[in-house]
Amino acid sequence: MITPRLEINLAAITHNSRVLVDRLAPRHIRVTGISKAALGSSGVAGAMVRGGVTGLGDSRVENLARLRTAEVAVPLTLIRSPMLSQTELVVRHADVSLNTEAAVLDALSSAAIRWRTTHSVVLMVELGDLREGVAAADVVEMARTVGRQPGLQLAGLGTNLACQCGVVPDQHKMDQLSRLAGQVEKARGAALSVVSGGNSANLEWALATDDVGRVDELRLGESILLGTEPLHRRVIDGLRTDAFTLVAEVIEAKLKPAQPWGDIAQAAFGDQPPRGGAGTIRQAILAVGRQDVDPDGLTPPPGVMALGMSSDHLVVDVGDHDVSVGDELAFRLDYSALVRAMTSPFVAHVEQAALLLV
Ligand SMILES: *Cc1c(COP(=O)(O)O)cnc(C)c1O
Repeated sequence: MITPRLEINLAAITHNSRVLVDRLAPRHIRVTGISKAALGSSGVAGAMVRGGVTGLGDSRVENLARLRTAEVAVPLTLIRSPMLSQTELVVRHADVSLNTEAAVLDALSSAAIRWRTTHSVVLMVELGDLREGVAAADVVEMARTVGRQPGLQLAGLGTNLACQCGVVPDQHKMDQLSRLAGQVEKARGAALSVVSGGNSANLEWALATDDVGRVDELRLGESILLGTEPLHRRVIDGLRTDAFTLVAEVIEAKLKPAQPWGDIAQAAFGDQPPRGGAGTIRQAILAVGRQDVDPDGLTPPPGVMALGMSSDHLVVDVGDHDVSVGDELAFRLDYSALVRAMTSPFVAHVEQAALLLV
């Protein structure tokens, strides 16, 4: 089979979606499944929809266009502020977009009129993580403006924490968002249809609090795809961590000295940590590299240790394993490794259907 390849277990993605949807439902929180780390794969998106997510979101309009073509039957949200140069594409391929800039809203309004459509807008509020967001003091006024713009419809408010500076989405931050939602509703005299509390980093709060306030939606990517939460990168109880596996092929397997010899300077990617041990090791080279995956985010199989990675070679100590040229080794990936593996043109994606005979 082709290598390197990313094996995608769609049943695991459906399972994780279902568990999170069911845990949040009693708290009246819906889930928008975020497909950006899966390159907007329609297989992955479909697996999320089977697990009960009520919407899909992606940061790239190109990925949303792909989902649109695949006729996924839930609303599509662009979760990165639209580029001014892409507003036409945005109104065509996204039902909703997250916004912070008046000039972009003007362009979305014009584009929506040209395409005879209504585009929904979620205004993002800055609550301290210092990535996207309108200052809290400006939110009501901006919401009023959106309400007056032809072709646009104010769907609600949102915020995003824990991405740029690691600011934790706690009760205090979520209460602030709820208060702002109340102010906007009072100003416009109509209810908002969404108050989007944040990403997978919000789960700890959302599942523990006894007051979700006005928050009625979360945008979940990492937790669905990898089963982990991004604040401490812990596995979420009951979720599967085996949705993605990177399989690479051995191109050299030899007994080699544990230690290099000669005068030592920098390696291809800077200073390398010293190799441990003495004597001889079973070393293997896998045909996968930094062009394909983030080496720091790879977990080798038990008993195998990564020794270093350059653009095209991953060198491992295979310990007691009997490994030969042509063998395949399978690795787990973290979020960073997953994103790079999904976007490398050298890595094949193999989606495994929900039911496989073992
Ligand atoms: C990436 C992203 C998400 C999803 O984040 P996860 O931590 O993967 O759940 C949600 N909202 C926005 C704005 C994002 O950029």
